[in-house]
Amino acid sequence: MGLITRICKGLRFSRVSENGYYKVRSTDDPRSDRHGYVYEHRLVAEKKIGRKLASNEVVHHKDRNKKNNKPSNLRVMGRSEHSKLHSRERSRQSGK
Ligand SMILES: [Zn+2]
Repeated sequence: MGLITRICKGLRFSRVSENGYYKVRSTDDPRSDRHGYVYEHRLVAEKKIGRKLASNEVVHHKDRNKKNNKPSNLRVMGRSEHSKLHSRERSRQSGK
């Protein structure tokens, strides 16, 4: 709902949060959602590595803070590598 309210107000470059992530307006991006928003961390990561992310690549937040989109906090990883990393963490947290 927050997303739609903001668009109705006509804010062109607003930043909204969804699922704990920030999204920014980028209507010319083919991957933008129906409101013209894309994940900010993906844009920042693409700028950092100087190319578009491949479909099997994901952006990992090094400090685990989904809202810390500083280039130094972002790491581009393969999808399977990334899920392995997080599943290792989960098993450590559960104390097994
Ligand atoms: Zn991650």
